[in-house]
Amino acid sequence: MRIAISAGHGWRSGTYDPGALNSKFRFRNYPTLTEHLVNSEIVRIIKSILKSQLGSDLISVESMGLEKKVEIINQLGVDLAIEFHLDSSEDKSLEGCKVLYNPSSEQGKNYANSIQKALCTGVSRRKDLGTREGYFRLDPSRGTLYFLRATKMPALIVESEFISSSKAASEFQDGFLVEKLAFDLSEVLWEIWKRS
Ligand SMILES: [Zn+2]
Repeated sequence: MRIAISAGHGWRSGTYDPGALNSKFRFRNYPTLTEHLVNSEIVRIIKSILKSQLGSDLISVESMGLEKKVEIINQLGVDLAIEFHLDSSEDKSLEGCKVLYNPSSEQGKNYANSIQKALCTGVSRRKDLGTREGYFRLDPSRGTLYFLRATKMPALIVESEFISSSKAASEFQDGFLVEKLAFDLSEVLWEIWKRS
């Protein structure tokens, strides 16, 4: 089984899209906490944790524009594709994790449930907002759900937290939330890979 992982947003035709951000918080040595930075770091850590076990079965795909990225993932013909995002809301008290899947794949729904469970019961201990079908947004310029619709394999969007939540943002800034999320995701991907 081959798995592709990728951080949402980032570079697209020469412009940089940071995704959602929370300017009240810093991230590592960057002045602002952004969705793309957090998820790029999660992808990097997962790769380093799973390198020796999964080897070339785990592929990280760079941000390069959503349509180009989907085209590359389809060409790779992986068995599972995951894009990492963070949610954002005007309501700063909203927090928790959810995983979106393409409802045309029962297998994808099962993977979504496994990942959701890992992030809510593992070391990350996120509030469980549940898995849900994510197929309805058809316009690629509107972003993330195109990833689910246009990929030709079970595909997931993991929204591991609300970047707008002050509590979560402070865990990204001063805690080890990135490391915890990457650890739980590595564990569950390792399980999924072993089962295949
Ligand atoms: Zn996003």
